[in-house]
Amino acid sequence: MAGAHHQVLIVGGGAAGITVAAELRRHDHEDAIDIAIIEPSEAHYYQPAFTLVGAGAYSLKATRKDEAKLIPSGVTWIKEAAAGFDPDNNAVTLTSGVRVTYDYLVVCPGLKLNWDAVKGLKDAVGKGGVCSNYSPDTVEYTFTCIENLKRGDSAIFTQPPMPIKCPGAPQKIAYLAADYLKKSGIRQFVDVKFLTQTPAIFGVPFYAKELVKIAAGHNIDVRYNHNLVEIDAANKKATFDIVAGDQQGQKLVLDYTMLHVTPPQTVPDVLKGSPISNAAGFVDVHANSLQHVKYKNVFGLGDACSTANSKTAAAVRKQAPVVVRNINHLIRNKPIEEAYDGYASCPLTTAYGKVLMAEFIYGGKPTPTLPLDPAKERWINWTIKSTGLPILYWDYMLKGFEAFPGHDTKFQPPA
Ligand SMILES: Cc1cc2nc3c(=O)[nH]c(=O)nc-3n(C[C@H](O)[C@H](O)[C@H](O)COP(=O)(O)OP(=O)(O)OC[C@H]3O[C@@H](n4cnc5c(N)ncnc54)[C@H](O)[C@@H]3O)c2cc1C
Repeated sequence: MAGAHHQVLIVGGGAAGITVAAELRRHDHEDAIDIAIIEPSEAHYYQPAFTLVGAGAYSLKATRKDEAKLIPSGVTWIKEAAAGFDPDNNAVTLTSGVRVTYDYLVVCPGLKLNWDAVKGLKDAVGKGGVCSNYSPDTVEYTFTCIENLKRGDSAIFTQPPMPIKCPGAPQKIAYLAADYLKKSGIRQFVDVKFLTQTPAIFGVPFYAKELVKIAAGHNIDVRYNHNLVEIDAANKKATFDIVAGDQQGQKLVLDYTMLHVTPPQTVPDVLKGSPISNAAGFVDVHANSLQHVKYKNVFGLGDACSTANSKTAAAVRKQAPVVVRNINHLIRNKPIEEAYDGYASCPLTTAYGKVLMAEFIYGGKPTPTLPLDPAKERWINWTIKSTGLPILYWDYMLKGFEAFPGHDTKFQPPA
C-alpha cells in the first residue's frame, strides 16, 4: 500500500528522533524540509531520571511528557511502528502495511527490554520484592522495596550482558539503596550484593578504579561474571550462571528479599535481520559520521545504532548535531563530516547528594566538561543530575538547541 513521501523520515520519536527533528527544524530557516517521525507511543519518558525515581528522590510524573507536545511544529507524526526497511527503494513499511518513502532516513528506535530472557522475570517483576528501574511500570516499586528492607534481609542488584541502556544504571541504584540503609541505621544488618555479567564494574578503567573503591566503601559484595538466568518468585531465589573465572560453568543460587533486575536488552524486532542492520541487529553506521556503511542517505544514532559508545542520552546529545549537519551537507552536495567522537556521559549516583560524573569518548578516554577532577564524587554533580540535566534535556536538547558546553578532549588524568 503506497503512503506519503517525506524528504526526511525518522524512525523512533524518542530522545534521538525528537532531537534530530527539532534541530533540523531549527536549521531550516525557510521551512523547506518536509520531516516525518514514525513513533507508536503516546508518551515519552526522561529515562535518565528513573534511577532517582527508584531511589525515591524524583517523581515519575516529572519524567513523562505527551509525545504530541514534543513533536516539533511542522513535523508530521506517523503514529504507528515501522515494520520493515527497504533501503534499495528508499521505503519503510509500517505495521498497517503502508509504505512510506523518503529521500533521507534516520533510524533511532532505541533498545527493547527483553524480560523473557530471564526465566520467571516477566511474571515476577513488580511484586514480591522483584523490581526494576528500567521501566516506568516498575520503577516506583524499587523504592517500595528499598523502604521495606529490614534487619536480616538480603538486597540483590543485577546487571545483564552488554549492551544495555546506561551501563552505569544497574550499580547506581545499589549505591543509593546502601546509602538509604545507612541513613536508616540498619546498613550493617542487610546484605547488599551487586552481581554483573561483565568482568569489570565499568567499561572505562579510569572510572572503574574509583567505582571499585566506592562499592567497597558501601560494603557491597560485588561479583563479576555472574549472569541472572532464573527467578523462582515463590521461593524468592535467584539463579546465576557463572560465565568466566575459576567457577565458569557453575551456577549460584541466592535467596533475596529484594531483587533489582536490569533486564537484558536487544534491538527492536524491526531491526533483526533487516538490510540496514549488522549481524547483531544494530543499525550499521560509521562510528564518526553516523552515516550508514552501505546506504549513504541513511543515518543511525541513539541506542539502536552500531557505534561503540556508551548508550546514553548524553551520547544522543552529541550525535544528533552530526546527523543533522550531515543531512544538510548531503542536501547541498557538500562532503560528510566525521565529527562524533564517541562522547557519552554517565552520572553515577554514588550516594544521596553525590554523583561521580563519568564522561568519556571512544577508547575510554575521560573528557570532563567541568574543570574539576572527574574521578571524584561531588554534590554539584548531584545538582546537575537532578536539576540541570532534565532542563538541558526538555528545554534545550529536545527543542533543537545545540549550544551546550563542550567536553575537554585534551584532559590528561593525573599521574
Ligand atoms: C534506568 C535508566 C537510566 C538511564 N540513565 C541515563 C543517564 O543517567 N544518562 C544518560 O545520558 N542516559 C541514561 N539512560 C539512557 C537513555 O535514556 C537512552 O540512552 C536514550 O533514551 C536513548 O535515546 P533513543 O532515542 O535511542 O531511545 P529512546 O529514547 O528509548 O527512544 C526510542 C523510541 O523509538 C520508538 N520505537 C521503538 N520501536 C519502534 C518502531 N518499530 N517504529 C517506530 N518507533 C519505534 C520507541 O517507542 C521510543 O519512543 C538511562 C536509561 C534507563 C532505562
